[in-house]
Amino acid sequence: MRTKIVAGNWKMNNDKKESKQLIKDLKKSIKAEKLENTRVIVAPTFVNLSSSIKAAKNSKIEVVAQNMHQAKNGAYTGEISANMLKAIGIKTVILGHSERRTYFNETDKGLAEKVDAVLENELETIFCFGELLEDRKSDHHFTVVKDQIANALFHLDKVAWKSIILAYEPVWAIGTGETASAEQAQEMHAFIRSIIEKKYNKEVADGVSILYGGSVKPANAEEIFSKPDVDGGLIGGAALNVADFTGIIKAI
Ligand code: PEP
Repeated sequence: MRTKIVAGNWKMNNDKKESKQLIKDLKKSIKAEKLENTRVIVAPTFVNLSSSIKAAKNSKIEVVAQNMHQAKNGAYTGEISANMLKAIGIKTVILGHSERRTYFNETDKGLAEKVDAVLENELETIFCFGELLEDRKSDHHFTVVKDQIANALFHLDKVAWKSIILAYEPVWAIGTGETASAEQAQEMHAFIRSIIEKKYNKEVADGVSILYGGSVKPANAEEIFSKPDVDGGLIGGAALNVADFTGIIKAI
């Protein structure tokens, strides 16, 4: 059975005190949930990772990073490497978020290098991708998504896929309040699984968790999560509010 995942990407929100408080509140609000075969993840900013890990101790909450640099070390002012994250207890890193691709010019090639650095450090990644509105309108969404996955991940061997979580996030649905319909999400997730099966095999395709991201809220989470190829969500705005995030976790 594939692992279900609800992951909250806090982006550049929450200072140290706020991060600790949100984790404390979340700990309390999900305490009664069974959460079998389900992971609950939060991604605070770099500077709050250590204190957040401490705050999440003895709970189901996993603390992950939002990004990293592909090099081990060197003259990359302002950057942080996989081994640095690993050294403070981080096990998972989000890569390829559309905001990174748009505002920080992340490319498929650079992301492939980041994925390699993740794997070299025995970490795991939540790898994000998704089409722009114009891609969907021009009916290119399947090609765009296929290229994003193939360019960054299809050089990996089968075993490496055990450390890959995919997050399909149509850019037109991120932070816009506009959600892909559950049918649109299912259609794309099934397509993603089919291209992985074609490249590797059914075992790899069936084993990878594919999250949907884009304006998921407690009100629409259940319908989206009910689809067979949707294994959870990557949540932005709603992850900043404990009641909303808990509602989404309950939906899974
Ligand atoms: C995201 O940033 O990954 C995201 C899905 O944001 P939101 O839930 O706010 O649309």
